Amino acid sequence: MNIFRVLLIGLAIVSLGLSMYIYSEFKSLLNTLDSRGDGENIGVSNVWQQQESLDNSFTWIGHATIYLNLDGVNVLFDPIFSERSSPVSFIGPKRIIPPAIDIKNLPKIDKVFISHNHYDHLDIPSLRQLQERNEKIIFYVPMGDQKLLLRKGLSNVRELNWWDEIVDKNFQIVFFPVKHWSARGFFDKKASLWGGWYLKSNNYTVAHFGDTAYDDRFIKFPEFMQNLDLAFIPIGSYAPREVEMEHHVNPEEAVKIYNDLNIQYAYGIHWGTFFLSKEDLYEPPALIKDLTSEDVIFSTSQPGIPFYLDNLNQVSIPIK
Ligand SMILES: [Zn+2]
Ligand SMILES: [Zn+2]
Repeated sequence: MNIFRVLLIGLAIVSLGLSMYIYSEFKSLLNTLDSRGDGENIGVSNVWQQQESLDNSFTWIGHATIYLNLDGVNVLFDPIFSERSSPVSFIGPKRIIPPAIDIKNLPKIDKVFISHNHYDHLDIPSLRQLQERNEKIIFYVPMGDQKLLLRKGLSNVRELNWWDEIVDKNFQIVFFPVKHWSARGFFDKKASLWGGWYLKSNNYTVAHFGDTAYDDRFIKFPEFMQNLDLAFIPIGSYAPREVEMEHHVNPEEAVKIYNDLNIQYAYGIHWGTFFLSKEDLYEPPALIKDLTSEDVIFSTSQPGIPFYLDNLNQVSIPIK
């Protein structure tokens, strides 16, 4: 009898300890699971379908997924086309809008860049479908994630450390650090890296910031990352602040990054697609609109609208 009591108390202590650990380490994740939409959604546009050419343009597909044609090379950042951002297909945050461009309607994709391994950025089913459709596709991932992709049957995977540089077909590719973290499960926190991708083609410099909180380090970024032509910066998943400020920038901080790096044109991503936090659906674009001026050219739009790189001067587009 006594031994059972001891075991029971032991089990209770272990469970309590584990719950406290999970809560403190994964407050942000729990915030995600707790978030529910109210049925309202921003919809998607099909303007991309009406264009003669998507050469040197980008289109937001939803969440952090961007299709970019850069001097003839077709690139996807953080592709997720699945119904849910989750390790399993039947539970987890569900998308409230479809991908603006279906995976089967994409042109041949040459390169995929993954910012970190959270499920809303690294979606294995999407990567598998992309590989099936594009034999020569190359996946660029943060250091530590290559083995995951290989284990899931993907090939042509390159992993980069922070500030590593690859030159490929006149492209300069650099993986840079941001303030965030990584994890696929409960016991692999920060086991692989997290960051953003810098691309330089013959004519343009572009960066995708993945997921990031604000960090002073952006001011001290090397010279080549100053004056970017175009940057994709997250503007959603920031509420409540006390939970999210260590993980995700709010629109004001996104504009701070824009200013710190003297970016020419920024486009806000990571909102309106999955309910991952508590801000109102239309708050990120509304706040961005209030923060833009002649000197701050920071835009966002409904997914599915192509923006052409030689004409990046549109100010923030009203969503609602
Ligand atoms: Zn993340
Ligand atoms: Zn995210």
